[in-house]
Amino acid sequence: MFAPTIEFIRSTFNTTELIPLHEPRFIGNEKQYLSECIDSTFVSSVGPFVDDFEKRMAEYTGARYAVATVNGTSALHIALLLADVQPGDEVITQPLTFIATCNAIAYCNATPVFVDVDKDTMGLSPEALKLFLQRHCVVENSTCKNKTTGKTVKACVPMHTFGHPCKIDAIKALCDDYHIALVEDAAESLGSYYKGRHTGTFGKLGAFSFNGNKIITSGGGGCIVTDDEALAKKAKYMTTTAKVPHQWEYTHDRVGYNYRMPNINAALLVAQLENLDIFLENKRELSMAYQSFFAENNIAFMTEPSESQSNYWLNAVILNDRAERDRFLEETNTQGVMTRPVWTLMNRLEMFKDAQCGHLENSQWLEACVVNIPSSVRL
Ligand SMILES: *Cc1c(COP(=O)(O)O)cnc(C)c1O
Repeated sequence: MFAPTIEFIRSTFNTTELIPLHEPRFIGNEKQYLSECIDSTFVSSVGPFVDDFEKRMAEYTGARYAVATVNGTSALHIALLLADVQPGDEVITQPLTFIATCNAIAYCNATPVFVDVDKDTMGLSPEALKLFLQRHCVVENSTCKNKTTGKTVKACVPMHTFGHPCKIDAIKALCDDYHIALVEDAAESLGSYYKGRHTGTFGKLGAFSFNGNKIITSGGGGCIVTDDEALAKKAKYMTTTAKVPHQWEYTHDRVGYNYRMPNINAALLVAQLENLDIFLENKRELSMAYQSFFAENNIAFMTEPSESQSNYWLNAVILNDRAERDRFLEETNTQGVMTRPVWTLMNRLEMFKDAQCGHLENSQWLEACVVNIPSSVRL
């Protein structure tokens, strides 16, 4: 039934072998920078590649400051702590996301509250957020109280799903009205813009990931971006050991996290960042090819939302129902074309099953019908 799709993907990637969902590409200065790094002996968490990466990342995204971390989860964790998320607080997020978003909330001993996504972006819906806030929340003494649970809503974490920007300006306006800190999970959206501005730079803080499956990778890695100098300084202090600055004395005035990215990972990442524009162009071409193929074959394909520029990190088709989705997954995977369903909704997981939820129709529909298809940069 999906033979033409399989044939198209095979011809597009020009191989008879297994086609993975997303592979990294090392076509630039990766080896050179890694050997420079080894020769210099600076392989650990202090080194010129870390500083260079942070500078380039800030330039690329247009954020004033960037702080590198060991992975995207730790970037989110620190960003939430910097947004003053305290034990017992609530953080609004979307149920359709990767587990890392909710893990970071849980590390703060806070609880997630799940609000629906939009169908056209797969990211947090400003309309659903507005309905939720109007129904459950009031502002008291400049803090947002959830009348239903009695807790404080401290932050909101929208996620730019598969690199498609969500309607972040409308979300930001609501967060401002309700005194909720906006922290963007931009783990999947390096190179994606909303109304010309880079994703991750709309909120108080943004978090990126450079895991092996992301658009560029440092093996493992992440980054916090912010325009606030004090928060950037605090991010650096907390991702290290919370050391009181002194030339030789070791004194620490809070618990630190040792979340700093090693120089060896940053060396890889600087080389990857140099090729990001090539990757973006290549991925856009692939998505355009997919788009015309699926249009001719009457299969819904996820395209860039309006007023946005997507990095097209992971391509996605939307099947008609769960049964058709299962047939698609079965057929493609048994024939060596890797595809996978979108994540199980967070509110269904054991750890978060008691979390408060808004109406989640769109998330449930997408959960049943969305499948990711091979999306690597083609060489
Ligand atoms: C990849 C990803 C993260 C961070 O993952 P790490 O593996 O910790 O770098 C966070 N949120 C989302 C939505 C992601 O896709």
